[in-house]
Parts: sequence; C-alpha cells; structure tokens
Amino acid sequence: MAEGTASEYDAIIVGAGVIGCAVAYELARRGWRTLNLDKGAGAGYGSTSSSGSIIRFSYSTTAGVMMAWEGMHYWRNWEQYLEVPDENGLARFIQCGMATLSVGPGDHSERVKPLWDDIGVPYEEWTAADLADRYPSLDLGRYGPPISPTDEAFWEPATGQLAGALYSPDSGYVDDPTLAAHNLMRAAEAKGAVFRFGTEIASIVRRDDRCQGVVLRDGTEMSSEVVVNVAGPHSAIVNEMAGLAGSMAISTRPMRHEIHQVPAPEDFGFGHSGTNIADDDNGIYLRPHLGSNVLIGGTDPECDEPDWADPDDFNPEVTSERWEAQVYRANKRIPSLGVPHKKLGVVGLYDVSSDWIPIYDRTDLDGFYVAIGTSGNQFKNAGIAGHVMAELIEEVEDGLDHDQNPLVVRGPYTGCDIDVGFFSRNRDRHPDSSMSVHG
Ligand SMILES: Cc1cc2nc3c(=O)[nH]c(=O)nc-3n(C[C@H](O)[C@H](O)[C@H](O)COP(=O)(O)OP(=O)(O)OC[C@H]3O[C@@H](n4cnc5c(N)ncnc54)[C@H](O)[C@@H]3O)c2cc1C
Repeated sequence: MAEGTASEYDAIIVGAGVIGCAVAYELARRGWRTLNLDKGAGAGYGSTSSSGSIIRFSYSTTAGVMMAWEGMHYWRNWEQYLEVPDENGLARFIQCGMATLSVGPGDHSERVKPLWDDIGVPYEEWTAADLADRYPSLDLGRYGPPISPTDEAFWEPATGQLAGALYSPDSGYVDDPTLAAHNLMRAAEAKGAVFRFGTEIASIVRRDDRCQGVVLRDGTEMSSEVVVNVAGPHSAIVNEMAGLAGSMAISTRPMRHEIHQVPAPEDFGFGHSGTNIADDDNGIYLRPHLGSNVLIGGTDPECDEPDWADPDDFNPEVTSERWEAQVYRANKRIPSLGVPHKKLGVVGLYDVSSDWIPIYDRTDLDGFYVAIGTSGNQFKNAGIAGHVMAELIEEVEDGLDHDQNPLVVRGPYTGCDIDVGFFSRNRDRHPDSSMSVHG
C-alpha cells in the first residue's frame, strides 16, 4: 500500500530526537515539507532523554570546538531562535561555567587552549590555589590514571597535586533535554513540519540508484526523494536498511552509559555556586542538577570496559559496578559527597563513531543523508547540526559534489566557517580526536 504521492514530503527524517527535530526545523524554515517518523512515544524519548546535556567547548579539534561554540549560542538565544512558544515551556540554558581540571603538560586542557585562542572562546586559567580558594572542599590530589575501585591501588593516597583548571565561563547545561527536543518540534510544526510517533521504519526504498522513501513496519510505503537518518543508536541499523552497511570508512555502534545522581553536599554549594567539572584524572565529569543534586558521568577511562550494546535489548537499570566506580571516583575529588544508599541514575546509549566524531554527510545513495555517530557529545550542537544538515541537503540536491568540494557553512551566530568535510563518512579517523566523549 502506498501512502501519499512522491511530492507529499520533500524529506522524511528518521528519528525525532533533539537532532532529528533540529534538522526538521531548519529544513522547514527553508520551505521544505518534512515528515519525522519515530517509533517512540514523543520527541526526545530516545537517547536524548538520558543526555547529561552539558554545554562545553573542550573538544580536541578545530571543527569540534567551532561547532560547540556556535551551538551554545542557539541555547543562549533559544526563545528568539524558536520563534514560537511551547505549551510545555522552554528548556533553559543554565550557564554555570565549567572547570576542566588540569594535571599539567600534555593533558586535555593543554590541547584545548590553543583551539580556544584561535576561535575566541573565553577562558580563565586557574592555579591550584585559585581552585582551593573557590572550592575549599575540593580534594586537589592527583589520583590518575583512573582505575577500578575493585583494584586495591584505588584506595592509595594521592600521588601529587593538580596543576589547576581551565575555566570556561560560557559553559553550562540545559535543564531538560527532552523538553528541548519538544521545543524544536513545536517550532518546526509552526513552519509546517509533520511528526508522527509510534511509527517504526522497517526499510528504505531504493530505485534507480536513488532513495525514494521508506517502508513502515506495517508495510505502508511513504515516498520522498530525500531521507535523513537521525536514528541515534539505531543509525547503523537504518544505514543497513538502505543497503549501505560497510559503505563508509567511519562506522557507528551503540555503547551503553550510566549517569548517576547524588545529593549535592552542602559545603560544595552545587545548587547556587556550582560549576560543571571535568576530571580526567578520576575519569569522571560532574554537573549541578535540579533540586540541589549532582550528576556524575564517566569519560570512558581505559580501565572501564566499553559496554557495547544491542539498541533493542540492553540493561536499562543502573548497575552496582558502574555506580560504585563513578560515585567512588567522585568522592576522591569531593570527599563530602558521600555514598548515598539509593543508587539513582539514568542509562542511555551513545551512538559511537570510529573516532568519536559525528558524521554529518550525504551517503553513496543519492538522496540519503546521515546525522549520526554523535558519540555522547552532540546534544549541545543540535541547533548548529540542524543548520549544517539543512545547508548540506539543499546544496547537494542543487548539484554540489560535496565529496569532491566539501561544503563550508558559516555559523549564524559566531561567523565561524565550519568545514563540513571534516564530518565526512569517508574520512580517515581524525588523529587529534581524544577517542572519547571529549570528541
Ligand atoms: C548518557 C548520555 C549522556 C550524554 N551527555 C551529553 C552531554 O552532556 N552533552 C552533550 O552534548 N551530549 C550528550 N549526550 C549525547 C546527546 O544526548 C546525543 O548526541 C543526542 O541526544 C542524540 O540525538 P539524536 O536526535 O541524534 O538521537 P536520539 O535522541 O537517540 O533519537 C533517535 C530517534 O530515532 C528513533 N528511531 C530509531 N530507529 C528508528 C526506526 N527504525 N524507526 C523510527 N524511529 C526510529 C528513536 O526512537 C529515537 O527517538 C549524551 C548521551 C547519553 C546517552
């Protein structure tokens, strides 16, 4: 059964997470008639719902920092950007800053600093004394490289002192990632976009070497000459539906992650003066959370076995092993944090690319595009990723040979020229990548 005509939708977008909704909004603003199909119950119910939604700029590559810096400006201008209200309210950008703890020469903050200088990302360099002054309850010891609490050496005293921190005042977090996706959906709808939930795509239609639409799980065929894969952790499965398995130099794979929530200790003041903290020395990051809580995530230290997962069959519960690893590590940095009895947290899947850098690109199948491989670090970039994808799709459909002459997109807020070829499906793994959630 065929539904609609070839011209009913200019683009079908697989997925309505924060990035799928941003792609819809950006295309709809350009006059495209878009349809998002999502098997979930609503916008942002997939991996977006468990996002830490940290907004930071500490990426290892120029294009990575540019995207994040540009991306923050969308959150800062959220209401104006969306142009319409949402009956559920708007997600808020809480600009609480971020301190990237530094152990000295060769660490991540050293890698980031010259990129920030080039791009104009403001920062302050804090000494260990500055850190002690601002956060007296922070333990400034060096404990790394991170190890498991099941290892006896975990309990050894510090081996030295932190050098200080690189502080970025413009960083922060978005208080409700699912609501952010909903906001984008409402903004897209105001421009004519259509969203359909509880609708699973089972295959991609290919005819005459071109993508021609999708087939739903119930057999309905829906036509469109452009299909965009924004299926998050299901991205590899959707590429396979399009007959593109193995066609890209960079692949994607789902990896399970846990974020834990503990009450903020009174002496740290996470509720009012708290900041995000990136602590590679302990393999964790922390951010303030609603209701005077702290979220603790992991930075994928080598000692933690990667938890590769089946996106349709993974353990959704917090495990004692990960809880203890992350909460005990956080206690080394903030001893007053304590170890609560209740193991609260969320579990989600990263869609990890071969080099932890996303793929924003066309594919070998004309009309089939991908915004995938977001590797646990692209929530912050939703707005600019939507803009980049819409520009790319328009240019390629107008005849641009993006593989030969990669598109450059100017960031609307910062004026940064973003080389979209950097996010190519056929790149060599970027040697400067941190090969972790840092990107
Ligand atoms: C635990 C965790 C912490 C994170 N922390 C941060 C952070 O602090 N900062 C940051 O910037 N980023 C972070 N991220 C990453 C960020 O959240 C993701 O990059 C972003 O949410 C991905 O959005 P998306 O729209 O691409 O995918 P998703 O939100 O996963 O949406 C994909 C959608 O596709 C749908 N779908 C899949 N297959 C089909 C199909 N066959 N048919 C129909 N629908 C389908 C799914 O139902 C889903 O709704 C984190 C991610 C996780 C999991």
